[in-house]
Amino acid sequence: MVMTKEEFKKELRQRLRENYAIEVEGAKPPELFNTLGALLKAKFSEDWRATWKDYLVGKQKQVYYFSIEFLPGKMLKSNLLNMGMLEMVREALAEMDIDLEELAEVERDMALGNGGLGRLASCFMDSLASCGLPGNGNGIRYDYGLFKQRFVDGYQVELPDEWLRSGNIWEIRRDSKAVDVRIGGHVYLKEVRKGRLKPVYENTRTLRAVPYDTGMVGYGNGVVNTLRLWSVEIPSSEEDRYQSIEGRRELEDLTAVLYPDDSNEKGRLTRLIQEYFFVSAGIQSIIRYYKRLNQPMTRLSEYVAIHINDTHPALCVPEMMRILMDEQNLSWKQAWDTTVKVMSYTNHTIMAEALEKWPIDLMKRTIPRMYQIIEEIDARYVASMREIHEHDLVERTRIIKDGQVHMAHLAIIGSYSTNGVAKLHSDLLKSVVLHDFYVIFPDRFNNKTNGIAQRRWSQLSNEPLSNVLNEAIGTSWRKNAADLKLLMNYQGDQQVLKKLAEAKKKNKQALAAYIKENTGIEVSTEAIFDVQIKRLHAYKRQLLNLLHIIKLYLDLKDNPEHPMQSRVFIFGAKAAPSYAYAKTIIKCINETANLINNDPDINGRLKIVFLPNYNVTLAEKIIPAADVSEQISLASKEASGTSNMKLMLNGAITIATLDGANVEIRNAVGDDNIFIFGLTEKEVYQYYENREYSSIRLYEENSVIQRVLNTFIDGTIPNILYEGREIFDSLIKYNDEYFLLRDFDSYVQAQEKINEAYANPKIWQKISLINTANAGRFSSDETVRRYAEDIWNIESKLSYSNKKG
Ligand SMILES: *Cc1c(COP(=O)(O)O)cnc(C)c1O
Repeated sequence: MVMTKEEFKKELRQRLRENYAIEVEGAKPPELFNTLGALLKAKFSEDWRATWKDYLVGKQKQVYYFSIEFLPGKMLKSNLLNMGMLEMVREALAEMDIDLEELAEVERDMALGNGGLGRLASCFMDSLASCGLPGNGNGIRYDYGLFKQRFVDGYQVELPDEWLRSGNIWEIRRDSKAVDVRIGGHVYLKEVRKGRLKPVYENTRTLRAVPYDTGMVGYGNGVVNTLRLWSVEIPSSEEDRYQSIEGRRELEDLTAVLYPDDSNEKGRLTRLIQEYFFVSAGIQSIIRYYKRLNQPMTRLSEYVAIHINDTHPALCVPEMMRILMDEQNLSWKQAWDTTVKVMSYTNHTIMAEALEKWPIDLMKRTIPRMYQIIEEIDARYVASMREIHEHDLVERTRIIKDGQVHMAHLAIIGSYSTNGVAKLHSDLLKSVVLHDFYVIFPDRFNNKTNGIAQRRWSQLSNEPLSNVLNEAIGTSWRKNAADLKLLMNYQGDQQVLKKLAEAKKKNKQALAAYIKENTGIEVSTEAIFDVQIKRLHAYKRQLLNLLHIIKLYLDLKDNPEHPMQSRVFIFGAKAAPSYAYAKTIIKCINETANLINNDPDINGRLKIVFLPNYNVTLAEKIIPAADVSEQISLASKEASGTSNMKLMLNGAITIATLDGANVEIRNAVGDDNIFIFGLTEKEVYQYYENREYSSIRLYEENSVIQRVLNTFIDGTIPNILYEGREIFDSLIKYNDEYFLLRDFDSYVQAQEKINEAYANPKIWQKISLINTANAGRFSSDETVRRYAEDIWNIESKLSYSNKKG
């Protein structure tokens, strides 16, 4: 990507003249951003085309990562970094009196996801390209991203996120690659010749699926993969059918919104059509490409791997069957053998309510051919398994039962690999959640611990830290995150420790300024910055965090000299709009913040900052400034977590339960460098078995818990008449589903240890260094390499990754 500063300036000027008829001097940030984006896209498009061509000519096996969510955030700086142009462009712009950071702010976050699931998909896109692995994304181009969150009187208010309003400079609409997707109506099978059945469709509707491609630029290697997102349109053949505006709207709205809920399925019909829509379009486009390779359909798995990210794309299984049988004339057996060899599946949750199911009649009505094929898969599965396994086991693992289609069952039965996302989670899948399937298909189960794109989460978002690392251990960690380990040699080096502390201070100052500007709250950078950022969910236990804060507040009220480090508790979290309890917790945190932040007795020693509209860009501001990382879900409930990894990489010290990837973080840093508390997953399951948990007993016997909980109903926290009661009842009357009160004491103790450690900067700084040094193993480069080797069987072409390295 060789381009000199002068060439760059010249081209920028030229493009501004051509596209906007202006000079650099008069250009506004949006004009500059769009021009810069277009310039970069033009530059990497040569590599994009070359990569595509290489894959085609080399008949490279490629993976297609199907995900109903992608959460890339802003792409300008990430593309600049990966193209090796970040410093050059920053300087060139500065010479023209333009601040790159100001331009970067213009870009809207691409927020086509809810949280961890979508962010993981985007980290994988970055890592696949950066490792030179042939891998592409397939998803939906929602017109509206995840809602924008505001607080009004402490309540969450949701506003639409019109991210496309001023266009999207990175995407390319490809009309020539559009495909049709059929929904609704009826379908029956007709014998066309002996033993050969063909489906006949009646009264179906046809949707036009138009792809928008975005280049996924690899880090310094000239590889550019493709993220393909589908948008719905009305095909010209059907225009006459939609004469009313309403009719058109209804159809065009199919890809309008992302369902802002990662656990409960709402807006069911539209959601099901969305799932089929992007699955069908994606598989059709894969098969069309495959036909150019001139290989028989039965050898598809030698050239194509399809990954089902959570159950939303599980229809990949019946849709592949449909295409192979109905359109490519394979027999059932050939089609089935081929399909299972192509598909792999990741499970992301053990939460029962999040295991996706669809009512039979709804599926029959909306995607009748899919239902027919699923019925047949189910019948054949039962017939073949009954010969080997006991009746009840087979019945429990059926795809269709209790009037519903079980999508996880479909995904497991229709694929050759099922993985969990952290060791503990994968073990729980085998021993509890999917145990029946593990008995039947033991070889299909494996673990792939999640990871994060270390480039975005350190190099881009934390330059002060990156600079210290470069000085101390060289720059190889930028390409190979495992080299962060070299930092371990400096754990006693006061120079390096001091520089790390200075970098943290700088980041805290920047965040403090942001907090002041956006909330009006003043925070001291001397205080511990204690961070919990993630979706708001009862199992993640933001409420436990709040209970501890209230305890500290009461301690300080009792005794203003109470020994403790000053702390700023920073929250970022969106609640699903239909999730009333989560919204109640938001309200309570905000009202407690009002109380504490304005209480003169507290005198600033305790602050709560709930930053609205948590998203990737906000995460990039908060994480570099964090001292403490709160990972306090009830053990067994968080499949992996990835904010735990991002925070660790940035030198935050973790307070955690032994849940998800926290277990692996502890193994990486050692017990002395993490603060573990709470029930283990075994103890949690014991409570489920013996049913001996009694929150009311804990409340009655523990005066601290009593005092803290009473603040919710006795007026101590103002303005939460109803909300406080709801919280109180959930903990006492409904027996505290996530065992907050059981973990309270041990959480408080762990927090006290944090307090002591922070009081000794030398100890603190050393622990912080050890966390950064051991974060390399959580790089998503490593994660996708393991997927590539163990599951997808795809190879990096060294010729790509070394081409421009
Ligand atoms: C990393 C990330 C998440 C995931 O956070 P967890 O704590 O792992 O649930 C969610 N949202 C955003 C914007 C993220 O960057």
